Amino acid sequence: METTTVKMPKKIPPQEQDQQPGIEQEMNPKPIYDNDEPGLGRLKGKVAIITGGDSGIGRAVAVQFAKEGADVVIAYLNEHGDAKETASEIRKYGKEPLLIPIDVSEEKNCETIVEKTLEKFSKIDIVVNNAAVQYEQHSIEDISAEQLEKTFKTNIFSYFYLTKFATPHLKEGSSIINTASVTAYKGNPALMDYASTKGAIIAFTRSLSQSLAEKKIRVNAVAPGPVWTPLIPASFPAEKVAKFGQDIPLGRPAQPVEISPCYVFLASKESVFITGQVLHPNGGTVVNS
Ligand code: NAD
Repeated sequence: METTTVKMPKKIPPQEQDQQPGIEQEMNPKPIYDNDEPGLGRLKGKVAIITGGDSGIGRAVAVQFAKEGADVVIAYLNEHGDAKETASEIRKYGKEPLLIPIDVSEEKNCETIVEKTLEKFSKIDIVVNNAAVQYEQHSIEDISAEQLEKTFKTNIFSYFYLTKFATPHLKEGSSIINTASVTAYKGNPALMDYASTKGAIIAFTRSLSQSLAEKKIRVNAVAPGPVWTPLIPASFPAEKVAKFGQDIPLGRPAQPVEISPCYVFLASKESVFITGQVLHPNGGTVVNS
């Protein structure tokens, strides 16, 4: 089924990467993060911070936000080649992004992201909490305290930290968007700690939306199903990567450009009456709200 104007690769060859975060430049085929649809100015004049914005879903969000007229700040761990490539894609839309290589799992670093954003762009309108790691383990007995802590610090503590420092600068009409996952709803026996962080992100989204409703700041989440991004070869064995996403109703993983429209919608005023909700671009898996 063709769902966008982009051409879908037919097959994913077996492949794996030996570190996280993974590197988009090393993937075959390359993920698709843009299409030939025109920007409509839906985010004109807005400033957005996107964690994990150098690659995968975050890259597609960063490029689409720039196409829609936003200035973007990209926080990422250390994948400088991917970040440079994303920056040059953003420049095609006449925007100069701010790249911040930094560990978002440390509280003070999230404060730094906010400070640097204000220095360059003087305001913040949109926060996309999106950075994550996942480490496959088939038994709870194999999940070390170190892994558990790293997964929670990266995937959910960072969402609290960045939001905490950004919120005082957000105004009526601002939007916070958290990347969750279908695993929050379905569970995943090989990603117990990761799925738990994603469940926490849903509860965080709902709670924060109620806390910020009075200020007219909206908070929503996106819970993707399988998406072809560096996270996949960096966390699963080669044979599993080759079959990734084939077991869902649409029978294939999404490309990042098929996920990013959810973020554009939630960031724009088209979704003005939506807060505390989760969008499910998951290729047909039925989940409860
Ligand atoms: P990705 O590897 O492209 O993105 C992960 C990002 O997290 C990287 O850009 C990396 O720089 C960043 N990151 C990791 N640790 C960090 C740290 N300590 N400090 C700063 N940045 C850090 O993969 P992706 O799949 O695009 O992941 C983006 C989001 O999508 C994640 O929240 C992931 O859980 C979610 N997601 C992905 C899938 C999928 O199938 N790919 C499915 C559901 C949800």
